[in-house]
Amino acid sequence: MNDILACPSCGLDKTEAIVHGGSYILRCAACGEAIVATSFLAISDLDHPFSAFADPGPGKRPRPETLIARGPLRQISPTISAAAREGTRVLLIPEGTP
Ligand SMILES: [Zn+2]
Repeated sequence: MNDILACPSCGLDKTEAIVHGGSYILRCAACGEAIVATSFLAISDLDHPFSAFADPGPGKRPRPETLIARGPLRQISPTISAAAREGTRVLLIPEGTP
């Protein structure tokens, strides 16, 4: 989850994890450029806990009331998938990181 990847547009190496439709996307936190995309299914059985929020936009902190789900990704992935299928962009934030 903490891949060091630099944005091809602006060179920043801070990324955000987004789920949109059936895709898991790493996005530049500054300009919003999509850097890496894979299938959400490929990561959806992780035991690591995440908080899932409605996407507030690149580099913005989500508001608490936009929380969609929180817990081990394996448990909350159906909720995230359902929201993403309805067109919500979901910001995934790993729990337990400073
Ligand atoms: Zn960028």
